[in-house]
Amino acid sequence: MTPESRPRVLTGDTPTGRLHLGHYVGSIERRLELQEEYDCYFLIANMHAFTTRAERSEEIRRDTLEIVKDWLSTGIDPERSTVTLQTEVPAIAELSWFFAMLIPFNRVMRNPTLKTEIDAKGLGDSYPFGFPMYAVGQCADILAFRPEFVPVGEDQVAHIEMCREVARRFDVLYCSVNPKADDADFEKLGGVFPIPKALVGRVARLPGIDGIQKMSKSLGNAVFLSDSAAEVRKKLNKIFTGRQSPTEPGDIHNALMQFVDAFVRDPNRVAELKDRYARGDNLGDGHIKQELGEHINALLDPMRERRAKYEGKAGDDLVIDIIKAGTRRANEQAERTLWMAKEAMGLGFFRRGLRLE
Ligand code: ATP
Ligand code: MG
Repeated sequence: MTPESRPRVLTGDTPTGRLHLGHYVGSIERRLELQEEYDCYFLIANMHAFTTRAERSEEIRRDTLEIVKDWLSTGIDPERSTVTLQTEVPAIAELSWFFAMLIPFNRVMRNPTLKTEIDAKGLGDSYPFGFPMYAVGQCADILAFRPEFVPVGEDQVAHIEMCREVARRFDVLYCSVNPKADDADFEKLGGVFPIPKALVGRVARLPGIDGIQKMSKSLGNAVFLSDSAAEVRKKLNKIFTGRQSPTEPGDIHNALMQFVDAFVRDPNRVAELKDRYARGDNLGDGHIKQELGEHINALLDPMRERRAKYEGKAGDDLVIDIIKAGTRRANEQAERTLWMAKEAMGLGFFRRGLRLE
């Protein structure tokens, strides 16, 4: 198959910090598999970073480059996958406007992921108008590429559901697709948009080292892919379990054991650890943390090696070249989609070109 005829995948990250272990097991691992067979688009949602930190543009710029470095260090390969920047794909912003007309305001505000984020990030009731807009914008991030799959963590499933609703609504309204048609048939029946499917990763929700919230780059509870081996060990030591001694029966569903599930890849060893933990068979939290540290550092070591290539100003320049080349490819796809959408909406008066300098 030529790259263009392969089915497409879209996913992305907001540059609000560096990538962490939750991203790795929740989404990146999947991306690495998918890039073998699919035409993958990985989007840096830098516009969305402004929804919670408009006054910290320097930080957003830095995190944009850091996240791409994180991606490259995990093995995302810009020769095979398209790495692109939201702010230089204008079709996304334009589609966001059109999609905002297709979804009731109350439907956006009922979105459980938005509610959880407002609480977890302490946004109170003073978040900007643009904050809930990001959920609509995310529909455009995805649909601009008309992908089949969207690999995400569990917290994003509610967003993907909204995106699917928008795609159905558009196709029914502007392409006369029968609203009762099977999701899988929407494109075949003349719809501009496929109804994309969420692919939840191996670990749907990795907790943070606080043991309560999901691990999140903006909540101060994350082990970052770019942390040193010593930092990793130090952070793992902080995972709170409340257990007093190695002979106290432990809860095999606590945060520490969720880490064991995620990072000890030998199922026999996991079973053995859980069994002894549950019985309080002289197995201390400290011992488990040490073993975990070895597994996690073994996972991160090759990333540390790959990352070295992108250090300093020369590394930044290399990364910007990669983003630019990817954004050129991404715009071809997104402009095509926008034109199809405009034609369907009766807006196909004349076509435009888009050029990156
Ligand atoms: P922020 O704090 O800025 O919201 P985040 O850590 O939640 O950052 P996102 O950029 O919102 O990261 O999410 C990127 C992708 O990683 C999404 O698909 C999300 O579902 C997934 N993801 C994020 N955190 C976790 C986690 N702890 N476990 C599993 N998947 C996760
Ligand atoms: Mg998030």
